[in-house]
Amino acid sequence: MTEMKPIVIPESHNYVAAFLTLGCNLKCSYCINHFGIPASAQKHITGEEWVKGLNRIVTRKGLPLTLQGGEPSIHKDFIYILNNIKPEIEIDILTNLQFDADEFIAKVHPDRIKRDAPYASIRVSYHPTEMELKPLAEKVLKLQNANFSIGIWGVLHPSQEDEIRAAQEYCAGLGIDFRFKEFLGEYGDELFGSFLYEGACDKEFKKDVMCKTTELIMGPDGSVYRCHSDLYESRPPVGNILDPDYQIEEIFRPCDEYGHCNPCDIKVKTNRFQQFGHTSVEIKFPEDEEDQAS
Ligand code: SF4
Ligand code: SF4
Repeated sequence: MTEMKPIVIPESHNYVAAFLTLGCNLKCSYCINHFGIPASAQKHITGEEWVKGLNRIVTRKGLPLTLQGGEPSIHKDFIYILNNIKPEIEIDILTNLQFDADEFIAKVHPDRIKRDAPYASIRVSYHPTEMELKPLAEKVLKLQNANFSIGIWGVLHPSQEDEIRAAQEYCAGLGIDFRFKEFLGEYGDELFGSFLYEGACDKEFKKDVMCKTTELIMGPDGSVYRCHSDLYESRPPVGNILDPDYQIEEIFRPCDEYGHCNPCDIKVKTNRFQQFGHTSVEIKFPEDEEDQAS
């Protein structure tokens, strides 16, 4: 059997994400996963394959592996994956919580998804058009009472802001950690979010650039992508975690899709050193190179 080389997460990297599937059991109108190839047509690797690939990862304390999607719990081996990832890898989960909480409590130990962090490890997204708040809050409390580190996040989408703020108050009253998430993307004629590179997400032009990421983005078939946009648009990957020789390369790669970037990659955020102005990708433009040469 060919030996799988460890995948060491470089110091520069701030996020490690396994998109177990891009499919979901809800249908939010603003979902960023609703384009590219439909989830049903995508290849999904098995739980055993995920575990084989993910257990190659060598990451540092405080940089967890985030299991997400789509909705990660609809992967048929979701619980197997959780229970078989090596203990040295910390785990966070992004979920809409439509799974069976009793089964989850019976099969997963809360310490498997607990870590020393200023926010909950199971991050539930609340989508008011698709779910009722009261049963969702009851489910969160059930998991919280079973010692899981869990909280709810509500996206401040312009069409739902009042509802989200009211939900926060209701949940805070029950002792649930409910936080707001900035809405990124288009609504009406407006693009919401603070983005470092002008026009990157406007979808009005395409330009050749060089791009380097600080994230390990793994898609449903174990492929590794340059960015979220490549994942969602099913562009060719740069590697696969089941390739025994795969290693992360901290390099600028040519890209001719600039202008069709995803807000997740371009939004301005605070990095782990609490420095504002950080983005997931660094982009070099041909004119920058020309300036340097002259
Ligand atoms: S729950 Fe999340 S992944 Fe599912 S449809 Fe809504 S936004 Fe998309
Ligand atoms: S320029 Fe945009 S689309 Fe191209 S790799 Fe970078 S983030 Fe992705």
